[in-house]
Amino acid sequence: MNSAQNPSPRSLCVFCGARMGTNPAHEQAARSLGQAIAAQGWRLVYGAGDVGLMGALARAVQEAGGATFGVIPVHLMQMEVGKRDLSTFVVTETMHERKKVMFMNADVIAMLPGGAGSLDEFFEVLTWAQIGLHRKPIWLIDVAGYWGPLLALLDHVIDQGFAAASLRDLFQVLTLDEALARLEK
Ligand code: AMP
Repeated sequence: MNSAQNPSPRSLCVFCGARMGTNPAHEQAARSLGQAIAAQGWRLVYGAGDVGLMGALARAVQEAGGATFGVIPVHLMQMEVGKRDLSTFVVTETMHERKKVMFMNADVIAMLPGGAGSLDEFFEVLTWAQIGLHRKPIWLIDVAGYWGPLLALLDHVIDQGFAAASLRDLFQVLTLDEALARLEK
């Protein structure tokens, strides 16, 4: 179904770095994902920053004519350069409210490369799924093997008996091309 048939587009919430990282492949991946979000009639939900991969992603969506929904806590407006020209721009009091508003407005959740903030956001939605609070799809988009160490850590956690093997079924590891193909479905 495309956006012409469906007046309320599906929303992809993307967690990703407020920095660019050292590998240019990450910025390119953010741009490609942004272009595909717009081209396939999805709406981007994200942290409303204009820095790092977050900014690259949002600008790519905007340049391709897509819809953007950003949520930023008031105290990060300066640090993360709140992007006020989004289709919808929401300022929250707290970090927790930001994550809640992003989650509530998402149909699918994805993580691109990022740092501790992205990991926090990913683990929150993953652990909510683990205790049965939601069944929204979670995509871990692995660019240039960036998330390999995280996957190894999760396997270790399972091997050592601190999580059920089913933890790995709660999210899907996708290449960028696989994620782009999912947006087309
Ligand atoms: P990072 O991956 O560390 O570059 O951060 C990506 C995004 O996650 C940024 O918008 C951060 O503001 C956000 N973030 C950082 N720490 C947290 C946290 N504890 N809870 C929620 N979001 C966070």
